[in-house]
Amino acid sequence: MRDSRDELRSLEEEGLRRELRPLATPQGTAIELENRESFLNFSSNDYLGRTNSALWKQWFQESIEIHGAGSGASRLVCGTLAPHVSLETRLADLKRTEAALTFSSGYATATGVLPALCAKGDVIILDKLSHACLIDGARLSGATMRIFPHNDVAKLKSHLQWARSQVGPEGRILVATESIFSMDGDACPLEDVIKAKEKAGALLLLDEAHAFGVLGPEGRGLAAACGVEDRVDLHMGTFSKAVGLSGGYVCGSREMMDLLIHRARSFIYSTAPSPALSATIEKALDWITGPEGEAARGTLWARVREIEPESSSPIVPRILGSNEAALAAAEYLRKSGILVPAIRYPTVPRGTARLRITLSAGHTREQVLELKNALAGLDLTR
Ligand SMILES: *Cc1c(COP(=O)(O)O)cnc(C)c1O
Repeated sequence: MRDSRDELRSLEEEGLRRELRPLATPQGTAIELENRESFLNFSSNDYLGRTNSALWKQWFQESIEIHGAGSGASRLVCGTLAPHVSLETRLADLKRTEAALTFSSGYATATGVLPALCAKGDVIILDKLSHACLIDGARLSGATMRIFPHNDVAKLKSHLQWARSQVGPEGRILVATESIFSMDGDACPLEDVIKAKEKAGALLLLDEAHAFGVLGPEGRGLAAACGVEDRVDLHMGTFSKAVGLSGGYVCGSREMMDLLIHRARSFIYSTAPSPALSATIEKALDWITGPEGEAARGTLWARVREIEPESSSPIVPRILGSNEAALAAAEYLRKSGILVPAIRYPTVPRGTARLRITLSAGHTREQVLELKNALAGLDLTR
């Protein structure tokens, strides 16, 4: 039998060994690690700086008092509580869809939704840089998978044509992509993707994990920014990034959501999210879509522009290539008191190891200038 020590050793040799580094403080833009070393944090996805805001904490506490801490059962048994229904109604309204369904995480959403809608004989077409949860969901489904090079709509079209010739009249073709790509921070050419899927009679699932709360009117996402919300079949996302909490969602037609209740295994066989959490998310959505959210997005974009004027998201990658180069760069920044993760295979393709800088409305301008200085020093040492 394989020895797990050997497996860990070979990860070590490839520069792929990882470890958990607990924070000694709550999440934030200035944090301390276990050894009490303090850092400016440019590695979280808390784009609006909400995870530990006074309001979020207050709403969570109040919600526990009103709705209770735990849900006690899965949604279909007796775990559907008033806040779950209320949040789903609010989400459907926000996304301009008939219905919505919430899950315990974004990962659980994708791995539930894709196998619920597609099976052997169907085709799922994915962007090469799609998040692991979309790939895992597609694999679990048993459908045939086709991958197109990142944002390559011509190749997507040819996959769609091929898929049409493969599936019978009852067969489903589903395209899954992200609105903002998590490790590159670029946007998908959404309107072209939509035209292509419409022509082929395919469904589109759009993962707005990094765009929800960040892009578009009221922070409703890229589909809203492009004015094509009604042409996306399934809107998916998470409450763990800009919303600063946790949980996943999918929005679409009433029939589609009804089908998911019967078939999405991560929904059926998992305890419902804490009702207090769902109630807090709903309040958070009011804030995010309102004037305070708009102001926070203004601050966020000002911080992003300071580092990368052309960036289409708060995710700014610095691609360095080798694992060693990325690790050395992260270490250099660490010595300057700045935490930026070195992202390596398998999160990104081999040979594209990088620093992944994420900005937040919670960063002060001074903090961002400190990062900018450190990055300039890094460029000099390369
Ligand atoms: C983070 C992320 C997810 C997973 O969401 P969680 O709620 O953290 O499980 C899904 N898709 C993309 C693109 C993500 O970046």
